[in-house]
Amino acid sequence: MEFIDLRSDTVTKPTPEMREAMYRAEVGDDVYGEDPTMNRLEEMAAERLGKEAALFVVSGTMGNLVSLLTHCGRGDEIIMGDKAHTFLYEQGGVSALGGIHVRTVPNLPDGTLDPQDVEAAIRPDNLHFPRTRVICLENTHNVCGGVPLTPQQMAPIKEIAERHGLAVHLDGARIFNAAVALGIEAKEIAAQADTVQLCFSKGLSAPIGSAICGPADFIREARRTRKVVGGGMRQAGVIAAAAIVALEKMVDRLAEDHENAHLLAEGLAEIPGLKIDPSSVKTNIVIFGVQAQVAEQEVVARLAERGVKVGVIGPGRLRAVTHYGITRQDIDRALVIIRGVMKELV
Ligand SMILES: *Cc1c(COP(=O)(O)O)cnc(C)c1O
Repeated sequence: MEFIDLRSDTVTKPTPEMREAMYRAEVGDDVYGEDPTMNRLEEMAAERLGKEAALFVVSGTMGNLVSLLTHCGRGDEIIMGDKAHTFLYEQGGVSALGGIHVRTVPNLPDGTLDPQDVEAAIRPDNLHFPRTRVICLENTHNVCGGVPLTPQQMAPIKEIAERHGLAVHLDGARIFNAAVALGIEAKEIAAQADTVQLCFSKGLSAPIGSAICGPADFIREARRTRKVVGGGMRQAGVIAAAAIVALEKMVDRLAEDHENAHLLAEGLAEIPGLKIDPSSVKTNIVIFGVQAQVAEQEVVARLAERGVKVGVIGPGRLRAVTHYGITRQDIDRALVIIRGVMKELV
């Protein structure tokens, strides 16, 4: 059966042009800095985000981990939202591997952090306390429904960080979705952070990889950190080639995913037993509720039997993500199937 797979934009497969570029990629030993394709990708990524340098890593999780291990020493503290991907879905890696303490403040529904909460969470210089080093933001904010944060929404956090001598790290796994949705350049968003992690392997459809972008001296240190976690790669140009195609060809088309997500949300809003406000859908992530007496796992199982895959992200909360390979017709077909399943259950 051909599935309409809406579980995540990570299910995207490399485009034919990526396969071709991978086949033809010039390579060298990247640990020695001698892979020309990787060097080109890192320059491009830095340029796109308006930073001095960039470092390729195998995943978004590694991007956040290497960034935060580079910013912090053992016993230092990071402030982040309580719905941050790094807090919820990365195994507490910064604590497990880096001895770093995480302090959460509530994420507001729009994915932002209240500047007053953030400032109150910064530790004063006192023998009893860990030292605050970094404030983390996420854009688009995954668990808050893929909402893009504007540079204006991020600016107060940057201002607080500067005043207290802290760094801002941005989990920009979907920074290009944010930029396309807001009609601005990704570098305008990245300017509100010192370091940024971005994913090539989500909506941009590359098979593997993320980049950390930031100041040249930070990226030099991050290169050391990447090596110690086993992330030094050799002829990595083979995968960098696909990420170059991702940056060059796959950014503008994200608008199509956002349109499809909006269509999906409008259709879901009309199905009895489901709850969603379509105006809350701004990018490619659609989070919707199922009414209390229906078990979300049952909905997911029945949809899968009929060819539609969605994910569960909490009690009574499902997530569907649009991406390259999902067409408008797929959305129409998915809505027919979802309507049929809900009819059986409510
Ligand atoms: C997917 C994701 C990550 C992690 O990326 P992986 O490549 O899956 O490790 C980090 N942050 C956010 C917001 C994500 O959506």
